Amino acid sequence: MITPIIDEHVLERIRMAIDSVQRIAITCHKSPDGDALGSTLALCHVLRRMGKEATVVTPDMAPKSLEFVPGVRELVVFTKHEMRARNVLEQAQLIFCLDYNSLSRIDRLGEVMAPLKARRILIDHHLNPDNDFDVMVSFPETSSTCELVFRVLMQMGLLRLLDRHAASCLYVGMTTDTGGFAYSCDNPEFYEIMASIMRRRIDRITLYNKAMNTFSADSLRLQGYAMSQKMELYPEQGAALIVLNKEELERFNYSRGDTETLVNKPLAIPEIYWSMFLREDADKIKVSCRSQGDFSVSDICTRYFGGGGHLNAAGGDFSGTLDEAVAIFHQILSDLFPDTHPEEQTTQEQ
Ligand code: 5GP
Ligand code: MN
Repeated sequence: MITPIIDEHVLERIRMAIDSVQRIAITCHKSPDGDALGSTLALCHVLRRMGKEATVVTPDMAPKSLEFVPGVRELVVFTKHEMRARNVLEQAQLIFCLDYNSLSRIDRLGEVMAPLKARRILIDHHLNPDNDFDVMVSFPETSSTCELVFRVLMQMGLLRLLDRHAASCLYVGMTTDTGGFAYSCDNPEFYEIMASIMRRRIDRITLYNKAMNTFSADSLRLQGYAMSQKMELYPEQGAALIVLNKEELERFNYSRGDTETLVNKPLAIPEIYWSMFLREDADKIKVSCRSQGDFSVSDICTRYFGGGGHLNAAGGDFSGTLDEAVAIFHQILSDLFPDTHPEEQTTQEQ
């Protein structure tokens, strides 16, 4: 039995909003991941089957590694087709906001959307949503936005429209946001939803391998380099830090998505329960954090980097230099663990 967790009044508002319009835009966060793409493309597909004119608009491009997600080629990407993206949003009578909790998470799309009259419906699982939305389906305890899209469709009696194509999209998000069923999937209902998805005869093994086990040679070499040369361990504070600068990224022909799972790796070490990855992008330092147990990296990213996310997976953008970001990491160590030694204790042979 899958519990109907979404309030009936909220569902009724969504139902009425959809019924009363024809043109619908669906948006997700910048640097879209498997959950952002899977949830938006699944919902788009279902809305089209309902006869709606639905379009997914993303702030920037999907990484190459997710080009296999059904429907990705039809995305309207703001950084690539700005006029078209503006047009879709301005013409939309209803806007779905999936897998983000604040207009600040969608870059310039946020500025375009802010003055628009169209109602905004949030479906999301990040902590602390803003008041930017008219209707909110916000459940931080769920595995993924894809799980929530399934629940919305189920409670609205629309599962008959969830075909193999849309089910494949939802499978991708539920897989990637749980690290391949490693975390955030302790609710037995997760597997009941998965069973329903499996009944749509998705090509599970192919989707799993493409979502979880496919990297370019450059990406694998970059990850190997980062693990062997750049992983600093602070066992007294249960911490790990990996820093990659521009020159290193260029050396390995970095392209978006290449470092996607890197920040999880140090958590394999028994003493390490939280991990930070700092990447020097063209315009900012990208901060990524992961943790195990009740150590909140969301709190850390919010407090020190103005970011956020989930208890065990969070991130932020930092506008200073890489050295300044590293200094903040050391500040965190001394703030949170004042009685420990702040030095790195590497086990690596130099
Ligand atoms: P990742 O480390 O994979 O980029 O992100 C981990 C989680 O933190 C994701 O759920 C993502 O949405 C969230 N996150 C990443 N960067 C930011 C950010 O700059 N601000 C906020 N609020 N959340 C972020
Ligand atoms: Mn998500």
